[in-house]
Amino acid sequence: MNEYENNRILVIDDNVDIHSDFRKILTRPGTSATSLDALEAQMLGETTAVASEQTFELAHAHQGEEGFMMLKKAKERKEPFFAAFVDMRMPPGWDGLKTIQEIRKVDVDATIVICTAFSDHSWEHIAEQVKALDKLLILKKPFDPVEVQSMARSLRERWALLKQAQLRTDELEKLVTVRTSELEIERAKDKLRMDELEVVVAERTGELRKLAMCDKLTGLPNRVQFYDRLLAAISKQQKEPSHQYAVMFIDFDRFKVINDSLGHECGDQLLRSISERLTLALSPSDVVARGTSPLALAARLGGDEFCILMEGFNDEAAVLATADRVLHILARPYDLAGRVVNSTSSIGITFSRFGYRNAEDVLRDADTAMYSAKANGRGRAVVFDHTMHERAMRRLVLENDLRHAIDRGELAAWYQPIVSLDTRQPIGAEALLRWQHQQHGMIAPVDFIPLAEETGLIVPIGIWIFEQAARQLKAFPQLQYLSVNVSRRQLAEKEFIKPLEEIIARVGVDPKRLVCEITETALTTDPEIARRAIGEIRQLGMRVFLDDFGTGLSSLGSLRRFELDGIKLDRSFLDEHTFSRRTAAVVHSAITLAGDLEMTLVAEGVESLEQVALLQSLACKTAQGYLFSRPIPASDFDVAVIAETPIRRAA
Ligand code: C2E
Ligand code: CA
Ligand code: CA
Repeated sequence: MNEYENNRILVIDDNVDIHSDFRKILTRPGTSATSLDALEAQMLGETTAVASEQTFELAHAHQGEEGFMMLKKAKERKEPFFAAFVDMRMPPGWDGLKTIQEIRKVDVDATIVICTAFSDHSWEHIAEQVKALDKLLILKKPFDPVEVQSMARSLRERWALLKQAQLRTDELEKLVTVRTSELEIERAKDKLRMDELEVVVAERTGELRKLAMCDKLTGLPNRVQFYDRLLAAISKQQKEPSHQYAVMFIDFDRFKVINDSLGHECGDQLLRSISERLTLALSPSDVVARGTSPLALAARLGGDEFCILMEGFNDEAAVLATADRVLHILARPYDLAGRVVNSTSSIGITFSRFGYRNAEDVLRDADTAMYSAKANGRGRAVVFDHTMHERAMRRLVLENDLRHAIDRGELAAWYQPIVSLDTRQPIGAEALLRWQHQQHGMIAPVDFIPLAEETGLIVPIGIWIFEQAARQLKAFPQLQYLSVNVSRRQLAEKEFIKPLEEIIARVGVDPKRLVCEITETALTTDPEIARRAIGEIRQLGMRVFLDDFGTGLSSLGSLRRFELDGIKLDRSFLDEHTFSRRTAAVVHSAITLAGDLEMTLVAEGVESLEQVALLQSLACKTAQGYLFSRPIPASDFDVAVIAETPIRRAA
């Protein structure tokens, strides 16, 4: 039973008849109306509930004190009465008022109904003496049974409602207490969170500070930090001339090729490997802490530019030894997503003895020395000297000269025949740039094409040689085609095809007789640009040959991915020093694949009859090389002579 379901009534009266009247009224079955309810409830199986509706549990006391004791005990048993009917006059013991006052000391929940025949106590008088007035009622004797019954029922209901309300309040209170303690816990947690947050913020700030000084990809100090440290070294050296420092500029020789052909993810991985190895090369012998500051600091300045700052050495030989160790460690093979790549590095070094005042000059000279290391065959370290600076200046001048080379008529297109190994006749020729410099004489493409590409001058120069070749075709009616090299920089031009289209129209040449040679690296650097450009070239009716095949790390499979008309097998394949059965196998599969895809295959760099024999045994039909002819000016290009001389020798 719920706490709010209370059916108990206490009757306190000295008159026994009153007791039996109450019993009759409050414990007999109800009226006809409620009988119907009872019937309905019975059908629904709720008999007991309705029965108790009419029936109350009565307890009887005949004296005030007795009644009080019963009520007190019931309360203690947790079986309280919801109402007490109290007679006003009960001699010889307590009268009604005294009884009520005592009861109220132990129970304020029960409603007390004062039963009286006389107005011997005024309501005001009772009200003054008794607490819990809201639970005090007066019932006039003689009773009306219906009134008593309905009073009892409504008091029972009131009890239930009050108890429910009280319970709810209790629950609410409990809830509030729980919630409060929860809140307290939360608040404590919040405090904790604040503390945590502070730590996190502090850490994060430190991290951010570190990040601002570090290269994201490799974790090495970045340009900012490197400059900081270098400036500190410079100013220290100015104060203490005996304090020496050195800066190494490191360039990974094949980074560009690897990055372009294997993709940026592999490029990133390579950069990380390089960083790890640099760190390794500088530890432990070089990064012997003197106090806390290390003597060597490796940094990534950006792209594939790495630098090392060394300080506090007595002998420059220590720096050179470190450079050697770096070269050595960087030259070990790299495993990039399952592909093993190899490359040397070039290092340029400069020392504080050159009396630098700012960081830019130090880096510029280290960079110049690095270029010199590259020019001297790569894979080495070179120390800066002032003649290098002059050379660097000369390069600047050269760049300026190249800008005017076309206007000054210093550029020329030379041609190298492409020969059919079957008919032994030249079937085509490749146009190759030559620069006849006013002062320096003939400059080879390797010495100015990279410069032209870096500066973008290759774009107008490329258009220029394309026009030369288009015009020249008319003078070579016996040749099927002329090949022109198209640089990656040209392909990336937005309207790359437009000037070529104009030239074809203006010169009036059959575009089928023009071939564009595109390097493998150009294809892999930006496949989308390459694909689009190839489409445009072929749409004009020209053909596309893949140049330098085998140098760009791309697989044979990439041949299928582009619409190509021919492949030029790089001359490194025919190098007798490195020629092996494996090379033969690659050459053979390239030739077979070209055949399957109906592509022309041209072997480049043929210098000997042995190579011709080998190519023929591998079913290669076309070749180009010094054996047949070096590149020559158009005026010297006598097809008959070329066709006769070397082939006859070869036969
Ligand atoms: P490439 O396109 O691979 O041209 C073939 C190069 O190999 C030419 O060098 C040629 O003289 C050389 N060669 C031909 N046969 C032999 C041989 O039997 N043995 C040896 N050792 N070499 C041989 P060149 O003329 O010095 O050109 C070098 C590179 O410069 C070309 O390589 C090409 O990449 C670039 N180049 C030349 N002219 C142009 C041009 O007009 N535009 C562009 N974008 N690049 C050009
Ligand atoms: Ca070429
Ligand atoms: Ca080539």
